[in-house]
Amino acid sequence: MSGLAGSRILVTGASRGIGRAVAVEFAARGAQVAVHYSRNRTAAETTHSMLAGGGHIVVAADLADPQAVRHMVDTVASDLGGIDVLVNNAGMYEEHRIDAIDYDAWQAAWRRTIDTNLIGAANVTYCAVQHMFGRGGRIVNVSSRGAFRGEPAFPAYGASKAGLNSFGQSLAQALAPHGIYVTTVAPGFVETDMAAEFLEGPDGGAIRAQSPLNRAAQPEEVARMVALLAEPGTEYATGAIVDLNGASYLRT
Ligand code: NAD
Repeated sequence: MSGLAGSRILVTGASRGIGRAVAVEFAARGAQVAVHYSRNRTAAETTHSMLAGGGHIVVAADLADPQAVRHMVDTVASDLGGIDVLVNNAGMYEEHRIDAIDYDAWQAAWRRTIDTNLIGAANVTYCAVQHMFGRGGRIVNVSSRGAFRGEPAFPAYGASKAGLNSFGQSLAQALAPHGIYVTTVAPGFVETDMAAEFLEGPDGGAIRAQSPLNRAAQPEEVARMVALLAEPGTEYATGAIVDLNGASYLRT
């Protein structure tokens, strides 16, 4: 039996993609899952219907809205009776080439991306940690290979994920004395809706060939690593950033 059995998990952005796979994986390990979504309730309910076991809930919030975030997290803690694991998975990926858009569009793209991917995750974390103090917990952030390799057409995205990496490292140090352990996964391309336009486009073959496995990751592969990092017994991984990129980009 998994050490996560009976744990209470909040997964942001769980209406589809990696978040959905994470929700399914945690439920399969016996956890109670809060499926967070932004706008697509039908998709979130589909995720909910895929979860093994019972006691799962569906909650909504725009992560760029700090008050909505606090209300959402407090609802999860109240409905599940606490929060043991937070998975900061939600994120957006919006093109904003510096040589192709005007100044207003540039600012708007940066603001939306940072508000969601970095400040949104920081705010969800702040609110969730209030429910972990005194009992411990786990936080797993979903970052990206782009934080290290560069994102020429999506610079705010790369910066948001680099910021998320640093955030995870800082909080690993700040929260270890409270028995709260923080890790980060950094995937390369994953077969989800977010990546579909690239993987199914003319460059799809070249993108797959970036990895010597000659493929992108499946969301379930990311989900299994996220769950492993949340399992009891992996505490000493706190502060780690785990690459999941099929050896397509090797950091030194
Ligand atoms: P996806 O677009 O399929 O899912 C993203 C989820 O985040 C959705 O459920 C969406 O509703 C939610 N979200 C976006 N903006 C939000 C907001 N303002 N408020 C609340 N929720 C919001 O993407 P995915 O591929 O499943 O990506 C999940 C995570 O993995 C993201 O953080 C992404 O950056 C990261 N990632 C993805 C890939 C990839 O190739 N797919 C690679 C590296 C990292």
